[in-house]
Amino acid sequence: MIPNTIHTWQMTEPGKLRRTEIPVPELKPGEALVEVRGCGVCHTDLSYFYMGVPTIQKPPLTLGHEIAGVVVAGGSRLLGREVIVPAVLPCGTCEICRMGRGNRCLNQKMPGNSMGIYGGFASHIPVPARDLCVVHERRGVPLEHLSVVADAVTTPYQAAKRANLQPGDLVIVIGAAGGVGSFMTQTAKGMGAKAVIGIDINEEKLEFMKGYGADFTIDPKGKSAKDVKELFKGFCKEQGLPANYGWKIFEVTGSKAGQELALSLLSFVGTLVIVGYGTDETSYMLSKLMAFDAEIIGTWGCPPSAYPRVLDMCVDGRIVLEPFVETRPMSRIEQVFEEAHHGQLRKRVVLIPDF
Ligand SMILES: [Zn+2]
Ligand SMILES: [Zn+2]
Repeated sequence: MIPNTIHTWQMTEPGKLRRTEIPVPELKPGEALVEVRGCGVCHTDLSYFYMGVPTIQKPPLTLGHEIAGVVVAGGSRLLGREVIVPAVLPCGTCEICRMGRGNRCLNQKMPGNSMGIYGGFASHIPVPARDLCVVHERRGVPLEHLSVVADAVTTPYQAAKRANLQPGDLVIVIGAAGGVGSFMTQTAKGMGAKAVIGIDINEEKLEFMKGYGADFTIDPKGKSAKDVKELFKGFCKEQGLPANYGWKIFEVTGSKAGQELALSLLSFVGTLVIVGYGTDETSYMLSKLMAFDAEIIGTWGCPPSAYPRVLDMCVDGRIVLEPFVETRPMSRIEQVFEEAHHGQLRKRVVLIPDF
């Protein structure tokens, strides 16, 4: 049903949220109106709200870029369909898009950040219909849980693609139990990695990951890089795996400690993918890359074209969402932000509109 008005939670300025109503915009050609069924709370939202990271569109604006919902107007072939709204919407026409690297298109739109598109902490959102990922089948997985596919699950998938992850590969995930890292761990295993080593300082969550893709875990808290390496080598020896070549490392924490550990584990014909974001600088003898014939790769978002494959993995059970996601009413957004900011959330929270 087309609403009379759109309800949203707007960030009026960093640190302040206000419940408000906005008129339903006239849909432009190619746009669809999605009724939001769930919108995930991401660390990026918190960085805009608490840490002064500027949004491209100045406040007031509605945050939220992990959105699942139902098309209620426009995009005629999609009317009534359940969809996931990609977190990064490439322009589709620029040179970068034509190179097939649209996830880093410079004209891309991100709901809840970019000009001309607001976010998912709202009852409805108008979006370009072209890039919507249609949920054809979800085998009992709640639609609202699938909102985390936008960003939290697709970002790891794209990271794995950037590393050319193949069945039989050897993988280390640093930050393996975190909001994105837990999905990195599951994705690597789901794509056929022979061994996945999960590294994280949250011991309890890390232990849990043994049921979700991690074959071996290391808590680096209070340990030197050398200690961690010894544990890593011990596992390799026990499993008959090489300890000094071929590992693909995904650094998801963005922390200096995580990045330094990743660099210390990088070895011959290895790959390091930088998935996490942080502002600390780390030094490294780059010539080691030459000697190792190794590479370090950055990764950003995920092209909408890859979403259906990630969705398939979430529906067929290669990636399990349920233990990692919890839903809360959107009216509790302020409390959820506070809890997330203070690291009190155990799971990724999806807010359900209850205006
Ligand atoms: Zn995000
Ligand atoms: Zn583009």
